[in-house]
Amino acid sequence: MGTCGHEECYISTPPTLQFMLEDFPLITPNETIDRSIPRCRLCDLIAASTRESAAVFPPPTYASPIEGLQNHIASAERLIAEGIQNEELEKTLPSMKQMLADEIKATELRMVEVWKEYWAIWGPGEGPEIPNEYPVEEEIQDVVEEPSKDTGGKKRKAPLKIKGRASGKKARKA
Ligand SMILES: [Zn+2]
Repeated sequence: MGTCGHEECYISTPPTLQFMLEDFPLITPNETIDRSIPRCRLCDLIAASTRESAAVFPPPTYASPIEGLQNHIASAERLIAEGIQNEELEKTLPSMKQMLADEIKATELRMVEVWKEYWAIWGPGEGPEIPNEYPVEEEIQDVVEEPSKDTGGKKRKAPLKIKGRASGKKARKA
């Protein structure tokens, strides 16, 4: 307190534990902090944004895996369209697109993960939306239930495991 320079506007006491439990049943509140001690919400927000950047642009390259895959797919599609390369590339295209879909979902999950620490103190309202079927930590590695048009609402494996995913989907001609 008093050292970050934000104190005038942003220092306040976090919601009480009781309020957290009653109003935010999806959030596991931080029970280790003393909620009677004012703290800087902006500092907590900045920390959460920093963690979010690391989730979207992970080290060591700090490049977006989503952008990388998108570029890769765009190049492949261009080579196919120009007739420079065909058969092999066309075969790998569906799995590349599946990897992209998985990476997008995985990134969303990572973003939710890194905001938990902030939500645990202040409650939700900042950062990404909390998914309805908010998975508890162990389940994130396992199965995510996700009704979607593509799978007809069937259960899908969590996006963190990519192996063997591509075979189920046949290539859609663009
Ligand atoms: Zn501050």
